[in-house]
Amino acid sequence: MTISDFERLFPDEGACRTYLFVRRFAGGVHCPRCNNAQVYASKARPWHWQCMKCGPKPRSPYRFALTTGTIFEESKKPLLMWFKVLHLMVTSKKGISALQIHRMLGTGSYQTAWYMCMRLRAGMKDPDFRKLMGIIEVDETYMGGLDKNRHYDKKKHVRGTGAKIPVIGAISRKGNVVCKMIENADMPTLHRFVHEIVDKEKVSLVATDEHSGYQYLTRWQGLPHETVNHRQGEYVRGVVHTNNMESFWSLLKRGVLGTYHHVSKKYLPLYLAEFQFRFNNRKEADIFGKAIGGC
Ligand SMILES: [Zn+2]
Repeated sequence: MTISDFERLFPDEGACRTYLFVRRFAGGVHCPRCNNAQVYASKARPWHWQCMKCGPKPRSPYRFALTTGTIFEESKKPLLMWFKVLHLMVTSKKGISALQIHRMLGTGSYQTAWYMCMRLRAGMKDPDFRKLMGIIEVDETYMGGLDKNRHYDKKKHVRGTGAKIPVIGAISRKGNVVCKMIENADMPTLHRFVHEIVDKEKVSLVATDEHSGYQYLTRWQGLPHETVNHRQGEYVRGVVHTNNMESFWSLLKRGVLGTYHHVSKKYLPLYLAEFQFRFNNRKEADIFGKAIGGC
C-alpha cells in the first residue's frame, strides 16, 4: 500500500473508524469485557455501545467504545494519526524513527510520536505463534553499540560483550523468524529457546554454529542437529548453515542502529517484535490490516 493508496482508503477520521469497526466487529458487535453479543448501540454517542450483562450493578450498563480494549483506547490522538504512524512503520523496511514520524506528521511533540510508536510495536507481538518446522537455523547475536561510541553519560563502562544485550533467534527455511532477548547465552537458555520454538514432530534439521550452548540438542531433546564451525572458517556444509538467520540479524542491526541509533534493554523486546512482524509479513499484501488486527 503506497501513501496515495493509504490516503484514498483513509481520507478522514470516519473512514478509519469504519475500518476499525469492520476489523473488530465484522461478525457483530460484542462486549470486550464479557464477550456477550447482546449489546445496544448508544443513542447519544456514535461508536459507543452498552452491555447489560457485565455492568457494575444490575440494570446499570457497562459502556464501551469502538477503541475500548485496543491500544488506541486512552489516546486523545485521532485514529487517522495512529493509522498514518502505523502505515509508515509497517512499510519502512528498516523501521522509521519517532523523530522522523514527528517531522512528517506533525504529531504535536516528539514524545507523542515516540509513545505512539511504542504502543504500536507492542501491538505487533505475534499472537498466533506456530512452532517452526522443516530446516531451522538457530543463532544468537548481541545488540548494542560499541561503548566507545556512546556519549560519556550513556557509557556503561563495561568492556567486551558485557555492555551488549544477547538476542537469540530461529528461522525456518520457509522464512518465518522468531527472536527474543535473553539474559545470557548459556546452555540452559539456548536449550529452552529451542525447545519452545521447534515443532518436534516436523523438524528435519536444526542448524547452528559451534557455540557450546547448542551441544546435546540431539542427546537431550532428540533433535536432528548439525553444526558449522565458524571459528574454523566453515560457513556452509550442504544444507547446514545459518545464513538466513545472519541476514535477519544484519537487517535488524542496520535498522535498530541506523534508524534508532541505540536501543535500551527495556525497550529492545518491542523493537524485536517490530522487526519480526515486518519480516514475517513481508509477503503479506495487507500487512497494515494484519498489524491493526493486533492493536
Ligand atoms: Zn459485557
